[in-house]
Amino acid sequence: MSASKRFTLKALASASVIGCALGIAGQAQAAATIIINNINQPGVGFNDTTPAVPVGGNTGTTLGQQRLIAFTYAATIWSATLTSSVPIIVNAQFTPLTCSATTGVLGSAGATQIFADFAGAQRPNTWYAYALANKLAGTNVATSPSPQISSNFNSNLGTPGCLETSGWYYGLDGQEGTRIDFVAVLQHELGHGLGFQTFTNGSTGAFNNGRPSIWDHFLLSAAANKNWVEATAAERAASAISVNGLIWTGPAVTAAVPSVLRFGQAAVTISGVAAGAGAGTYVAGDSSFGPAVLGPSISGQLMPVAEQGAGTGSGCLPFNAANTLAVTGRVALVDRGTCGFAVKAKNAQNAGAIGVIIANNAAGLLAPGGGDPSVTIPVLGITQAQGNTIKAALLTRSRSRSGVIASFGVFGTQYTGADLFGRAQMFAPNPFQGGSSVSHFDSAMFRNQLMEPAINSDLTQSVLPPQDLSFRLFQDIGW
Ligand SMILES: [Zn+2]
Repeated sequence: MSASKRFTLKALASASVIGCALGIAGQAQAAATIIINNINQPGVGFNDTTPAVPVGGNTGTTLGQQRLIAFTYAATIWSATLTSSVPIIVNAQFTPLTCSATTGVLGSAGATQIFADFAGAQRPNTWYAYALANKLAGTNVATSPSPQISSNFNSNLGTPGCLETSGWYYGLDGQEGTRIDFVAVLQHELGHGLGFQTFTNGSTGAFNNGRPSIWDHFLLSAAANKNWVEATAAERAASAISVNGLIWTGPAVTAAVPSVLRFGQAAVTISGVAAGAGAGTYVAGDSSFGPAVLGPSISGQLMPVAEQGAGTGSGCLPFNAANTLAVTGRVALVDRGTCGFAVKAKNAQNAGAIGVIIANNAAGLLAPGGGDPSVTIPVLGITQAQGNTIKAALLTRSRSRSGVIASFGVFGTQYTGADLFGRAQMFAPNPFQGGSSVSHFDSAMFRNQLMEPAINSDLTQSVLPPQDLSFRLFQDIGW
């Protein structure tokens, strides 16, 4: 019963084919025109006349105005980076998308059409997203031109039953706090529409109408040691759920990995007289809030946080006297569940903890997401199995000492989110996640990337190194 917030950004699959800074850090002499085509009905979405107070550099005075201003700002970042002589038209609307109290789809976008074997195509018999095909051709490749990108954003966000406590942040300054940065979501969804997606079915491995996508020339199945163009459908499908075995081989991304991703992975080392079977170094999941673990970090007695009443969730309430005594000056160990990761971290920080470890309550390594800029202590995630092993070592302890020492640091000789050869990993969870798998960078990447499957609060609006790999991938596919 995970109740931690999860925000999803989908690559849109649409009918016939497929169709999921500051400042403006553009490429020198880059230029493309992006035109936003507001298709909402009067009074709703981008036309919502509800009065709004200007925020974070966004001067709009209605919700609709603020949404359009934010969209224009996000589009400007891409248009300053890409080059195309053909204007890129984006259909945009707010519409209800899948949502619950604790998880929701923020937006979805994709190319409206795909094209192959047009004049200017760099690879034969290969699908390209509409906007990229136009760029390569230098003209509109469609016989009946239409908008190139379709995009949808969740109109229910922040209303009862749909991530009610979050809501959109329409400022342009990346100061979203605990809300969701609309500009970052717009940048992300535009990325899909511009071509950050394969049109091959990642679940079955089937090509779209028998043809590979330009992406498939650069997607490597590590297990088969073949790129997707050469692999069988079964090999493609297997690599799409291989967790860390789906690799991007494009040279522009690979060249940029050392300047963007951290060398080594975050890790927790458990030691001390009482560590017992828990002793060792565990690869940990980075959180998207609190200070990043970039090298040797905090070290101290590890103390578990007891639930303050059945069902209240570990660490979800302001700490009582016993939990405060336990964690003051110590590293707090909490379990995932019931409330957001940042809530747990903030409560531990307020009680005097120097760091927080969050143990997963399901399979897999936990990378705590969400955000709270007031969290100033480092926070790392571990697996459920690691948590259980460590907790066994903590069973015998006093109220303020455990004899188990937790130290945060960096471990290993791989870039975080890349393979042993320094090539970027793509998102390949098991089971397959429709709309998310394959067409994103691996969520394990650190630093966090714009084109990961969930939005992280530490994004910078840049789509270029040293912050971001998105545009380098675009260069690999022909942008
Ligand atoms: Zn996405």
